[in-house]
Formats: sequence, structure tokens, C-alpha cells
Amino acid sequence: MTLPISFEFFPTKTEEGAAKLRLVRQELYALKPEFCSVTFGAGGSTQSGTFAAVGEILAEGVDAASHFSCVGATKSLVREQLATLRAMGVKRLVALRGDLPSGYGAAGEFHYASDLVEFIRAETGDAFHIEVAAYPEIHPQAKSAEADLQAFATKVKAGANSAITQYFFNSDAYFRFVDDAFALGVDVPVVPGIMPISNSTQLMRFSDACGAEIPRWIRLRLQGFGDDTASIKSFGLDVITDLCDQLSMAGVPGIHFYSMNQSAATLEICRRLHF
Ligand SMILES: Cc1cc2nc3c(=O)[nH]c(=O)nc-3n(C[C@H](O)[C@H](O)[C@H](O)COP(=O)(O)OP(=O)(O)OC[C@H]3O[C@@H](n4cnc5c(N)ncnc54)[C@H](O)[C@@H]3O)c2cc1C
Repeated sequence: MTLPISFEFFPTKTEEGAAKLRLVRQELYALKPEFCSVTFGAGGSTQSGTFAAVGEILAEGVDAASHFSCVGATKSLVREQLATLRAMGVKRLVALRGDLPSGYGAAGEFHYASDLVEFIRAETGDAFHIEVAAYPEIHPQAKSAEADLQAFATKVKAGANSAITQYFFNSDAYFRFVDDAFALGVDVPVVPGIMPISNSTQLMRFSDACGAEIPRWIRLRLQGFGDDTASIKSFGLDVITDLCDQLSMAGVPGIHFYSMNQSAATLEICRRLHF
């Protein structure tokens, strides 16, 4: 199947971690990703690690997207960072507000991702393909579902080319979101973000923090496996393969895998789906 796929990585903290990640990337490149992206710690905390990993991916001959969060940033800092990315040859950004860790400091000159998208377009024209985040199950801080959808439409209209969703396990939430966004005039591709399941404690922690709902039957099955990691992984592969199958049969514009810097689960899911 020729569905465009992409992989997300996070920057590593040590040289040993970076070396392992290089191997993971080489394994995943066999799937010919459209691009690979690297997350960016809010407040710029991982800036050098993010830019270094993005530079390595480009040097490996694969298109790379730098995530870019604006919370706590000034316009002059963002201008400088954009210039650095352009000089590196980066052509794709995932533009985000981000979340400042509590007690981290002032709000900066950007309030929302839409402010960042508008600023990037005003400063750099069409130099970047801009992706934004989408939340089929609603961003946890949204005032209401309607306000969140409207905020999504606003950031797309500010100049985004496409969107990647927060991960979800309920495909109806995604399909409803895409339909409702289209009704508001959003016609850019909304690519589902997919989180392979390999570690249930980590998944529950992340999901609670980012507002992704784990359906009751999945949560209970995972809890029932206890420490039996082989059963968790096997169940996770079945669940996520079925989800990707449903999405691809419905004609989604691509699939973005949250790799968690691991290759095994993503490779197996893609093998089963003949990607
Ligand atoms: C694909 C993807 C990649 C991510 N990558 C990273 C990363 O690399 N680093 C990182 O730190 N985090 C990342 N995140 C998490 C993200 O930073 C958080 O979810 C953050 O809380 C929101 O960022 P945003 O860009 O979606 O914000 P926004 O789109 O600005 O929305 C944030 C909140 O504000 C509300 N809002 C927006 N505009 C308005 C308005 N005009 N008036 C009132 N309310 C408004 C929205 O409803 C929402 O509740 C990622 C998330 C996704 C889905």
C-alpha cells in the first residue's frame, strides 16, 4: 500500500541514546517515510538536541520536520531559531504552542499556536511547510469542544498546510473531527497520529496528561496483563493494527507514528498492513 507514513522521535540526552536512535531510524527508513519529525521541549529546553537530530535526519537523506513550540518565547528568539532552521535546509515545521512546565516562567509573546503560524508566515513566507496539532478528543485545556474546533480552524487559516492529530484509539472521534473541521472550511490533510502500545504504565500516564482516551475495554485488558509485557505487546499490536487498517481503508491522507524512539512495534504494524 502506498499510504504516506511519517515517524516522530524525541531528542536524546546522551551520546549513547543518540547512537541507539540512529539505528532505530535506519530500521524505520526501510518503510520509506515521507518525513521524520523531532519534538521540541517547551521553553526551548531541547532546542540544541532537537536541531541536532533534525540535522542528522536531513544528512541521512530523509526529509525532516522540526517541532517548534512558542510558549514562553519572544519574537526575536523565534526569528533567530527560524533563521537557524532555514540555514540548515529545514523545510518542514510542526508549529505548536507547547506547555511550560509549572513554575517555568513568563508567558512570552505568543499565546497560541495560531500566533506562531501567523508569525512564521509573515516572517518567512512559504519557506516552510507548516503542520499543526489537532485534537479529535479535544485538547484538555479547551473551554469547550466547539471552542477547540474553532481554535483549530483559526490556526489552519493562519497558514498551516496540514495537521497531525493527538493519538486516539477511537476512530469515530477522528472521523467526526475531520467532518466538523471541514464544515468550518478546513480542507487541509489531517493525518492521524498513532501511538503503538508497548508499555501500559507509560501509556496510561501519557494519556491522562494529554487527554487521549483509552477505551475501557483496552484499559481493563492492559491492567489484566499486569507485568506480562509479552501479552501487552501482542495485544497492543493487534489493537493498533486494526485501528490503522480501519483508518487506511477509510482513505486517511497518511499515518504519523509516535515511535517513542523504538522501531519494533511500528515495523511489525506496518509489516502486517503491507505498508
Ligand atoms: C502532533 C503533536 C505534536 C506535538 N509535539 C510537541 C512538541 O514537540 N513539544 C511539546 O512541548 N508539545 C508537543 N505537543 C503537545 C502540545 O504542545 C500541547 O498539546 C499543548 O498543550 C498545545 O499545543 P497546541 O499547539 O495544540 O496549542 P493551541 O492550538 O494554541 O491550543 C492550546 C489550547 O488553547 C486553546 N486556544 C487556541 N487558540 C485559542 C484562542 N484564540 N482563544 C482561546 N483559546 C484558544 C485551544 O482550544 C487549546 O485548548 C504535540 C502535540 C501534538 C498533537
